[in-house]
Amino acid sequence: MKYYSTNNKNLIVNFETAVMHGLAEDGGLFMPAEFPKMEKDFIDSLEKFSFQEIAFRIAKKFIANEISDSNLQEIISNSITFPAPLVSIGKNLYVLELFHGPTLAFKDFGARFMAKTMGYFVAKRNINLNILVATSGDTGSAVAHGFYDTPGINVFILYPKGKVSLIQEKQLTTLDKNITALEINGTFDDCQRLVKTAFVDKELNKKLNLTSANSINIARLLPQAFYYFEAYKQIHNKKLHSIFSVPSGNLGNLTAGLIAKKIGLPISKFIGALNSNKVFAEYLQTGIFKPRPSIQTLSNAMDVGNPSNLIRIIEIYSNILKEMRNDIHTESYDDIQTRKGIKEVYENYKYIIDPHGSVGYLALRDYIKFDQQFNGVVLETAHPAKFKDVIEEELKIEVEIPERLAVCLNKEKRTVELSSQYDDLKEYLMKNR
Ligand SMILES: *Cc1c(COP(=O)(O)O)cnc(C)c1O
Repeated sequence: MKYYSTNNKNLIVNFETAVMHGLAEDGGLFMPAEFPKMEKDFIDSLEKFSFQEIAFRIAKKFIANEISDSNLQEIISNSITFPAPLVSIGKNLYVLELFHGPTLAFKDFGARFMAKTMGYFVAKRNINLNILVATSGDTGSAVAHGFYDTPGINVFILYPKGKVSLIQEKQLTTLDKNITALEINGTFDDCQRLVKTAFVDKELNKKLNLTSANSINIARLLPQAFYYFEAYKQIHNKKLHSIFSVPSGNLGNLTAGLIAKKIGLPISKFIGALNSNKVFAEYLQTGIFKPRPSIQTLSNAMDVGNPSNLIRIIEIYSNILKEMRNDIHTESYDDIQTRKGIKEVYENYKYIIDPHGSVGYLALRDYIKFDQQFNGVVLETAHPAKFKDVIEEELKIEVEIPERLAVCLNKEKRTVELSSQYDDLKEYLMKNR
């Protein structure tokens, strides 16, 4: 399979290059040159396949012969290691729980698959790789856990000292082995600036094989298509139209759903559920993309003012706005509504939903008005325990912390503290690669 840059259709690379480079040389994002069709037989008989078998069949179409079947099987069995259960909470109303991974967020799917794929190419080429990631919280921990203990790959995570939650910090700083947490005396923007400076530093790059594990990496996007198939497999009444509501920020999750549809999964409609950061809704209405600074909300992983995957959605629809509008509906909700959504889901369905899922629920509710002629699926992107405070405030109950999170909360934090001066980071990396 070939991949092209969204900035230039003639810049074409293979899967390995797309994965190892992350971003195209011209700054574009990689997109598959074609959308393979999954066989009708396969889609009609999804129930017969395990989640890993589904993942393998889809991955195979996008990777073709660049990775052998047995190696791809190994990548899948090391990355799709937790389920994506579709929980029925009401008549034809479902929650797709994507939080069963090590860091309790759906990003574990993408991060793990990307890590194992990069690990495979690194071993094949017998090289060493150093990964630098700047994080404001969640992405960093999913990436760190994904790459944990991968031979040939070292990961340095830069995060702003004192500016991530206690849980997030514990998830970032309690891994050992090939993962190092760099606690930067500065802001998230400083962390991003440091990483960007490092990537263009010729002297550093000569010494160290540096790469990013960017959220826009194609190997993070593709595995997210797997769980849409896994979800559809679990729907009881497939005769009804199915509508999926996706709590969205950078639009990676939604893009993966649209790809699943494009390759044959019969999902009738997608809802891009947004918080007060609603650049995407404005784009669908007006056709004009106006990025803005992000606004802080309760569903903070969706606080994105310049969604990087929008360009991919535009590519999928060949820039035809009318077709985008046919497949995607958007709604936006503020924090007061998000809190009400958490309460409503608990009162009506006895289900504890996190703030991101709540936005997804509200958007679905308002779109289908619970018309039972549809299957409605809300993607629950994070475990409620990650937002314990808000939920306990709203529901007056105690939220249980899952074992895998409790374990890291009890571990000692280990970091290397650095200033926000680039020279300090460089000196450290030169010494410690
Ligand atoms: C990252 C994230 C989102 C947003 O997903 P995108 O792919 O960026 O649109 C939603 N919810 C949670 C919990 C996340 O971590």
